[in-house]
Amino acid sequence: MTTQHAPLDKVRDSIARTAGIAGREAGDVTLIAVSKTMAADDIRPVLAAGQRDFGENRVQEAAEKWPGLRKEFPKTRLHMIGQLQSNKAEDAAGLFDVIHSVDRASLVKALGKAMKKTGRRPDCFVQLDIGDEPQKGGCPPGGLPDLLELCRAHDLPIVGLMCIPPADTEAAPYFALMRKLAERHGLPGLSMGMSSDYETAIMVGATHVRVGTAIFGART
Ligand SMILES: *Cc1c(COP(=O)(O)O)cnc(C)c1O
Repeated sequence: MTTQHAPLDKVRDSIARTAGIAGREAGDVTLIAVSKTMAADDIRPVLAAGQRDFGENRVQEAAEKWPGLRKEFPKTRLHMIGQLQSNKAEDAAGLFDVIHSVDRASLVKALGKAMKKTGRRPDCFVQLDIGDEPQKGGCPPGGLPDLLELCRAHDLPIVGLMCIPPADTEAAPYFALMRKLAERHGLPGLSMGMSSDYETAIMVGATHVRVGTAIFGART
């Protein structure tokens, strides 16, 4: 049985509407509810409304919150969307179903090793530093071909590209560049778009949107 969750319903409706305008199916866009900083009691109503993909940005926080919630809602898929330290690669491989923040050689090697050891193979996105803001993490676009080659050498299941565009500027040109780079490298996935710009991202081809505030309210 599912219950209503008004903000979630609003985001879902908006995704379906925007996908329709873009000539795409709503089902081609995965909504990731970004639950970082939210307590289990805030997350449960969103799970009860049928949402199954969730994003967290810290391994430790996810490890504390999700094993319990997953017992209640078994088919939940967890997405790692934050910067990942290489020494947490094994924990991350064990906990997450998708990792959106593969951005450097040392992490590729650590994840390759962790996947061999644990036998778990979360889908991976390469995070691009699309707006040239190194503090946000992400691989510079010029380094993408080499990083993808290293991912293949370490047998990482790379499914797409992810970005966080610069704040306070028009995101669409960055999303368009992301799409071009994904096409050039034959990658089907595009993880882009947050509360303020997910409709734009869907128009340009996003396959995964990461929405926190519009579902859970402001983070404190
Ligand atoms: C926090 C976060 C989001 C969600 O941002 P909102 O503006 O709250 O929707 C999406 N992606 C990443 C990488 C984040 O860290």
